[in-house]
Amino acid sequence: MPELPEVEVICQGLLPHLMHRTIIDVRCSGKQLRTPVDCEELQRELNEKQIVNLTRRAKYLVLKTDNGATLVIHLGMTGNMGIFDAESATKKHDHVCWLLDNNTELRFNDTRRFGAVRLFTANNAAKEEKKFFSAIGPEPFSRACSVAYLMQRAAHRKQAIKSFIMDSHVVAGIGNIYANETLFHSRIHPERPASSLSSKEWKRLLTIMRKTLKHAIKCGGSTINDFVNASGEGGYFQMNFRIYGKAGEACSCCGLVISKKTIGGRASFFCEKCQPKLEGSSR
Ligand SMILES: [Zn+2]
Repeated sequence: MPELPEVEVICQGLLPHLMHRTIIDVRCSGKQLRTPVDCEELQRELNEKQIVNLTRRAKYLVLKTDNGATLVIHLGMTGNMGIFDAESATKKHDHVCWLLDNNTELRFNDTRRFGAVRLFTANNAAKEEKKFFSAIGPEPFSRACSVAYLMQRAAHRKQAIKSFIMDSHVVAGIGNIYANETLFHSRIHPERPASSLSSKEWKRLLTIMRKTLKHAIKCGGSTINDFVNASGEGGYFQMNFRIYGKAGEACSCCGLVISKKTIGGRASFFCEKCQPKLEGSSR
């Protein structure tokens, strides 16, 4: 499942191929994604319009055209986007294709169809976009996502710290993989109540969260060519995780067997020794 770094890498990879290109036509498979795709509306609103921006917000790609329309794309569990030669054969799960004025095509592929392609039409895009993202917390790299902010949100919360940092209302874009990795490197047990972290621990957690995400983006950057080309199978890069998916293996830090437990419905991996459960006992 693509997380923030994957979406950021896709965004950075697509941007130079999309900026100032004009959309000639939009084609759809007719299959419903997580929400229905109105192909006629996409054509009406986007055909002959120039792409003026592509950014990421949380795990969404946000594409803007010169008429003021906004496309919001979520990759769901298996979604991917790539630039292809317009003449090349489409793949089975290519659900939305945007033909561009240089005979290339932006294609949204999604096997399991949990992704979404939402259009905010030019007449009210700004308002709709604001409303759409209003419940999502600050970006982890933003100044708004400070230790003070996180402590204030965590005050009196008995919720496990892992579920807390995965709550998109609190902070945008932290999925299961990076929550596990962040807590391991921060030496914080995933079941600690969110309110029990000291400011020192929050500072460490925030620093490590940013570092972990940045590192993943940097690693993914080197794979950009894999998905922005005609042959692209399209792909998420495989990071070398230290804790995620490592149940039963030896902790890379102390050698103890890594534990696995479901917390908040999500698979959680941790080292009992490096991530002590006792409040304040982590280094
Ligand atoms: Zn350990």
